[in-house]
Amino acid sequence: MFITFEGPEGAGKTTVLQQVANRLREEGIKIVVTREPGGIHISEQIRGIILDQQNTMMDARTEALLYAAARRQHLVEKVIPALETGHLVLCDRFVDSSLAYQGHARGLGMEEIYQINKFAIESCMPDMTIYFDIHPEVGLARIRANENREVNRLDLENIHFHEKVRAGYLKIAAAEKERIQMIDASQSIEDVYQRVLHIIEARMNR
Ligand code: C5P
Ligand code: MG
Repeated sequence: MFITFEGPEGAGKTTVLQQVANRLREEGIKIVVTREPGGIHISEQIRGIILDQQNTMMDARTEALLYAAARRQHLVEKVIPALETGHLVLCDRFVDSSLAYQGHARGLGMEEIYQINKFAIESCMPDMTIYFDIHPEVGLARIRANENREVNRLDLENIHFHEKVRAGYLKIAAAEKERIQMIDASQSIEDVYQRVLHIIEARMNR
């Protein structure tokens, strides 16, 4: 089963994903934890290019194509083989990030971004997506409070950009109620963790 975690910065995706993975591993479930952009060497290299603070000239379409290229390689090299060997794959971000960030917030168009991603992923979509909904002010405040977090090129975007990201996610969540489970990520990390664990266990026992 392929499950993706989506949402803006500071929503707690990465932290909760690790906690859930640890718990399910203890129960004996075979799990692969991974992230986008990245997860394997080629895609981590592409991530480096996208997030490099020196790359201030990067064109929005170039950025969108790089995300799609990183996604393609990660899918064929890591995600699909893991699914084929019976693993539960938990992935930090996937195609919905591109729709929300590049499609909606950058203004390239969600349909256009869907088209290039369709080429990249063919028909491989997640079985379930957990969307961590949080007001950008709250998410960004959490990031500022976390001194250990690396700063990247995209952290310099203003609050208006992050509001558009959220609006993009809310559109996708409304259009894809079957696949996307929305959770309130402004609660404590412990509460969010319990909720996510419950949702995943319920889906696996279905
Ligand atoms: O999820 P993570 O924090 O690792 O993402 C790295 C950065 O890339 C974040 O600043 C995120 O906002 C940005 N990003 C983006 N478009 C995507 C995916 C991530 O701008 N499609
Ligand atoms: Mg994260």
